[in-house]
Amino acid sequence: MDEQELNDYKKAGSIAKQVVAYAKSIIKKDMPLVEIAQKIHKKIEDLDALPAFPVNLSIDDVAAHYHPTIEDKTLATGLLKIDIGVHINGFIADTAFSLDLTEDNQHKDLIQASQDALEAALDLQNENPTLHQIGSTIQETITKQGFSPIVNLSGHGLAQYQVHAGLTIPNYGSSNNHKLDTGAYAIEPFATTGVGKIHEGPSSNIFAITNPKNTRGVTARKILEFFSEKYQSLPFSLREAQEKFGPMARLAVRQLEQEGVLHHFAQLVENSHKPVSQAEHTFLKTKEGKIIITTK
Ligand code: MN
Ligand code: MN
Repeated sequence: MDEQELNDYKKAGSIAKQVVAYAKSIIKKDMPLVEIAQKIHKKIEDLDALPAFPVNLSIDDVAAHYHPTIEDKTLATGLLKIDIGVHINGFIADTAFSLDLTEDNQHKDLIQASQDALEAALDLQNENPTLHQIGSTIQETITKQGFSPIVNLSGHGLAQYQVHAGLTIPNYGSSNNHKLDTGAYAIEPFATTGVGKIHEGPSSNIFAITNPKNTRGVTARKILEFFSEKYQSLPFSLREAQEKFGPMARLAVRQLEQEGVLHHFAQLVENSHKPVSQAEHTFLKTKEGKIIITTK
């Protein structure tokens, strides 16, 4: 990793931290998700960065991948996961936290479990662990507290303009004895009171350009040009397309999806429909040791 890349990662991390603090300060129970999404997006751009993906605002049994459209009336309630990505020149900081918006704080312990698992997994990095050791530590930390990790969601490597690159970092004790090379990684334990698996549910309203080609629709062409210029292959939201291109955006995005230009992300829903908590940080593994870019 050269100096410029290291600095860009650190800058992305520092901005992500500021956005997390801002998100914690503004999010209140019953705030419309679309308002939260717009404010977080604006904050990232005000800090001279860009979102690495549309902020994920996922409630209760939706573990990840939800972003509201502009018509969306969903309010912040229950167990809300806020997953934020920020990039500088394509170098990404990926970080998430959970908020308990119930009146009696019923998800407090579940939130603590994913946080503890994340901390334990990050502490372990000083010992150059195998993927098996990282996953086991996450699993044991969560199960000791009476919950289950989501076994088919995982941490991941990061690369320039790629949110998921290289290795996946399991949230359970897989038998993989690989160790992490130097590079950027996100660790993201999910804990649930349910069975601990997710499936693909309804639309997340999040898309990525996977196969850019000529398209006939005028709005579709404009959308393709705008988002490939702004985000390259990183994900974008239908919401931003609606704000930029108006009422034609929804149909145009659907057309691009049908033409095979866009990949459409699904919501990731817990199989037994039980609440899920998440915690995530990004760290750099360097020859000199680890640098966690999204913590204090
Ligand atoms: Mn994330
Ligand atoms: Mn991630």
